[in-house]
Amino acid sequence: MKGRPAVFIDRDGTISEEVGYVNHPSRYRVFPYAAAAVKLLNDAGWLAVLVTNQAGVARGYFAEEMIGAVHDRLAQELERGGARLDAVYYCPHHPTVGAPPYRLDCDCRKPRPGLIRRAADDLHVDTAASWMVGDRYGDVELARNAGLRSAFVLSGYGLGEWEHQRQHWSHQPDLVADDLLAAVREILRKEKSRES
Ligand SMILES: [Mg+2]
Ligand SMILES: [Zn+2]
Repeated sequence: MKGRPAVFIDRDGTISEEVGYVNHPSRYRVFPYAAAAVKLLNDAGWLAVLVTNQAGVARGYFAEEMIGAVHDRLAQELERGGARLDAVYYCPHHPTVGAPPYRLDCDCRKPRPGLIRRAADDLHVDTAASWMVGDRYGDVELARNAGLRSAFVLSGYGLGEWEHQRQHWSHQPDLVADDLLAAVREILRKEKSRES
């Protein structure tokens, strides 16, 4: 069985504002277009999966439960727009900071592909047809490491990285878009034109 295509979505700077460590749900701000973007995927039959590094846990800035509380808030905001994520995967680890079990040279800290591999197994994802959307170069590398195509967004850290750092990147993204909604529209448009 071939599996379903997915768009893997970075959290901070991509589906919600980049505000530094979200150590309380009150700091969390979902972008106003997030629900529209996720709903497009829902309606097209694509999986929408959040993948995020949350090393604030390893660093001792917040407990792992905080991540769940923030993601509940995200789910509520999306639901208000008629949208839902199919799954959320996060890495709470850091290779050199904090105490075990969170101080760990894990396989799931982006740009390592562990989160994508787990999701692909759990949800039967067709990775060759799938995309990663993010606002950092690490998300482009993650896509490459996991066998996905990459969409780089100019929200969050994106514009600054694009203007000042891309000449140093070893790999370029497959597409660049202003934000998550524009990226999703472009991904679905490209895939439709490939099919026909
Ligand atoms: Mg980000
Ligand atoms: Zn990890």
